[in-house]
Amino acid sequence: MRSTMMDAPLQISRILDHGSTVHGTAEVVTWTGAEPRRMTYAEVGRAAARLAHALRDECGVTGDERVATFMWNNAEHLVAYFAVPSMGAVLHTLNIRLFPDQVAYIANHAEDRVVLVDSTLIPLLAKVIGDMTTVRHVVVAGGGDPAPLVAAAGDRISVHHWDALLDGRPDTYDWREVDERDAAALCYTSGTTGNPKGVAYSHRSIYLHSLQVCTPEGFGLGPTDRTLAIVPMFHAMSWGLPYAALFSGASLIMPDRFLQAAPIAEMIIAEHPTLAGAVPTIWNDLLAYLDSHEVDTSSLAEVIVGGSACPPALMHAFEERHGIRVIHAWGMTETSPLGSVARPPAGASGEDAWRYRYTQGRVPAGVEARIVGPLAEPLPADGTSVGELEVRGPWVTGRYVGDETPDEEKFRDGWLRTGDVGTLSPDGYITLTDRAKDVIKSGGEWISSVELENALMAHPDVVEACVVGVPDERWGERPLATVVLREGAGVGAQELRDFLAASVARWQLPERWAVIDAVPKTSVGKFDKKVVRSRYAEGGLEVRELAAP
Ligand code: AMP
Repeated sequence: MRSTMMDAPLQISRILDHGSTVHGTAEVVTWTGAEPRRMTYAEVGRAAARLAHALRDECGVTGDERVATFMWNNAEHLVAYFAVPSMGAVLHTLNIRLFPDQVAYIANHAEDRVVLVDSTLIPLLAKVIGDMTTVRHVVVAGGGDPAPLVAAAGDRISVHHWDALLDGRPDTYDWREVDERDAAALCYTSGTTGNPKGVAYSHRSIYLHSLQVCTPEGFGLGPTDRTLAIVPMFHAMSWGLPYAALFSGASLIMPDRFLQAAPIAEMIIAEHPTLAGAVPTIWNDLLAYLDSHEVDTSSLAEVIVGGSACPPALMHAFEERHGIRVIHAWGMTETSPLGSVARPPAGASGEDAWRYRYTQGRVPAGVEARIVGPLAEPLPADGTSVGELEVRGPWVTGRYVGDETPDEEKFRDGWLRTGDVGTLSPDGYITLTDRAKDVIKSGGEWISSVELENALMAHPDVVEACVVGVPDERWGERPLATVVLREGAGVGAQELRDFLAASVARWQLPERWAVIDAVPKTSVGKFDKKVVRSRYAEGGLEVRELAAP
């Protein structure tokens, strides 16, 4: 029996129409360093229509052509997020922090036709625009001299100004009905090996993902929220916050290029966010700032931390010193990205609740998870069997852009191989111990680098700790602990190892220690362990070696 239900396609233009009418007075605030810019969702709707007209009529965008963004988190980026997919084209968020040759590779692979760029990023785009072989138009948002870009672009590419291009165009657009399974947006993984790989989200996957972001099991976004979206819109769609915002009527506070702790604290004081999302590094910096400045954070009920493992010490510090609840979440570019959120189950309280909150979280109904052993055998979801995490679901990618068939290294029997290692509990909580490539294999036993890092970051003098496996004649591999110390702290390697010994098995305690100025980070703010390993291999670290414990 077929259902009697209407078959309305789940498409982005529906979210835009809803957000810009029902929630027309909600707003997107863009930080400028001076007076913030404000735009209501009704205005976002009108600007999206004007941008779509301009892209079609002036830039010749038709069908599923790709329109790239090279932008910070701001109102214009939000307008592009909605205009491009709503007109049936495909939004491609370029990562501004990648090396120029990687940006060009990605733009060419995606066959981008137009690039929308913030004027503050003109110098960066000017370096690569000449190598973007399919681009025909660049649209510059904001003031600033476009001359370097015009010079670098050459005759092949027309450079327009956003305001002039949109000016006078109709502020409604007859959004066409799309096949909900067609691509709406593209994002490339920051891949540490080989070329970056593209994930194409569909209208349907974004729609369903937005619903999940708004549930209490997800980020719980609703019309009374003001969401500080620090996670970049070029990284895994800013965790789905922009789409979920118009879906639910939550206002958005966008930091633009002001990502340091001081301006973020100012945004909190001035704009009263209720919710915020960012990687641990950002929260670590903000914590140090909050500890030493008077900041009214009373509006901020929850912050979502993901992208890397959140050290329990950071969660406790925020909650106990500043009354801000930290919610740990896990996901990937490949999973839209919301995979799991660590909210404790009903009935859990005290230490028990904390234990759940330290995990990477519980999978929602839309994501199935399993743990797989070295011979591809599914392992029990018993909370103790350790293996690779695999997931599948309607907002999980089944292959990469351009691949006819799923790449066997990343997909198995319809499941995405995450490359993350850990356990799954009977009640659906994922606990990750490491990335498969970062696990330290010491004499046939595995040491979790993340566990050592979390334990070290609980020391009051340690700001950041990054642990990697390094070659060892006797054991094959042993952990090297690199630590960033609080200013003026004089704690030594032996003292840190004694501290670790209280929570970590003796045989896992590192012999090799190095104090460093900062942990190298990837383009999306994760610890770049590859760089730490190669610095060690090249003798670029001052390593203190303690006797075996
Ligand atoms: P990306 O696609 O760049 O967002 O990277 C996804 C990867 O980030 C995952 O496969 C994990 O290795 C890592 N990751 C994301 N969230 C967490 C988390 N909460 N804990 C540990 N690792 C995480």
